[in-house]
Amino acid sequence: MSTRTSDPLATRFRPFGATIFSEMTRLAQQHRAINLSQGFPDFEGPQLVIDHVVEALGSAHNQYARSMGHPELVAALGRMEEELYGLRFDLMSEVLVTSGATEAITSSVLGLVNPRDEVILFEPYYDSYPAAVAMAGGIARFCPLRFPDFALEPSELAALIGPKTRAIVLNSPHNPSGKVFSRDELLVIANLAVKHDLLVISDEVYEHLTYDGISHTPIAGFPGMRERTVTISSAGKTYSFTGWKIGWAFGAAPLIAAVQSAHQFVTFATCTPIQVGLARAMNELGTAYFADLRMSYQKKRDFMCDLLRRTGFELSPPEGTYFVLAAFGGLFSGTDREFAKKLVETVGVATIPPSAFYTRCPEEGAKLLRFAFCKTEATLTAASERLESLSQEP
Ligand code: GLN
Repeated sequence: MSTRTSDPLATRFRPFGATIFSEMTRLAQQHRAINLSQGFPDFEGPQLVIDHVVEALGSAHNQYARSMGHPELVAALGRMEEELYGLRFDLMSEVLVTSGATEAITSSVLGLVNPRDEVILFEPYYDSYPAAVAMAGGIARFCPLRFPDFALEPSELAALIGPKTRAIVLNSPHNPSGKVFSRDELLVIANLAVKHDLLVISDEVYEHLTYDGISHTPIAGFPGMRERTVTISSAGKTYSFTGWKIGWAFGAAPLIAAVQSAHQFVTFATCTPIQVGLARAMNELGTAYFADLRMSYQKKRDFMCDLLRRTGFELSPPEGTYFVLAAFGGLFSGTDREFAKKLVETVGVATIPPSAFYTRCPEEGAKLLRFAFCKTEATLTAASERLESLSQEP
């Protein structure tokens, strides 16, 4: 057998392997563990959204949608962005519907980054970012954010910027840390982007999941940023339907045209009946829905943080997302991967070992585990019963 057929993987994917989310969910199923690893709700999103999608399926909304997004969804998204943040986008040229935020990120990088351009990622990062940069032939540079507060060190970011830097990928609220970048931090990033003429790809999928009265601020609203920012979000998190894979991107027309150049060949268009049903449901639910979502997640966050602290983990409570990163040094002396393996096999709780989200400083991640709390009260209570056994170990 030739190497080409026995080992056919293209070199650009060799550094990556299978995603940690698939690996841990598989282990959770194998060991019948409670799955606090992959971030998906174990409850349904609003019935109203399902009803509208079912109706759209039954009323001839089943052929290709407009490549850039069904006009009803594009209109609902544009209205929402203006109502929430005062950001106005032209519906036909500045909004793009994609197959999840993942596709929006990949199409943005493919559409905006040239081979050998450098792209700055904050580390720990969401795992698709370095892979998207590799697909575009770009080079990722990593700006560390460190446990426990994951504060931005402006000089570390500035030091990474050079003549080849094309873009910064920002993610706030931030997965996996739960950090919400402060206005001052966003201003630092915005000022550097303007000064060095950089693009910003801003992944805001957790925009509605912020706690303790903190609110989300899109970086596109900062001076000089509208023309250089692609703002990305997704229905998966906001409406609790991660399997539907509907995402979107807002940005100035030239940026969105570049992202569309990739999108038209990556998927061309996104599932029509879901776009139509989601648009109608969004119009009916309005922005009041977001307050209820936030309140229910705040309770889950508090429950999870209390539990982890009682069990012997160290953490600072996440300001956003549905994840908490916790240090386990008082409980276990090995690596995050070893502890995650022990937890899934012997305690029956699956988590994410976050060293998978580091390239430059993997030792930072090796002392942490990520817990997802987008789960029902029953699941969280069952997990707490299992995890409490850890604090009783000799
Ligand atoms: N975003 C989800 C998480 O962080 C997982 C998505 C995926 O499985 N690719 O857990």
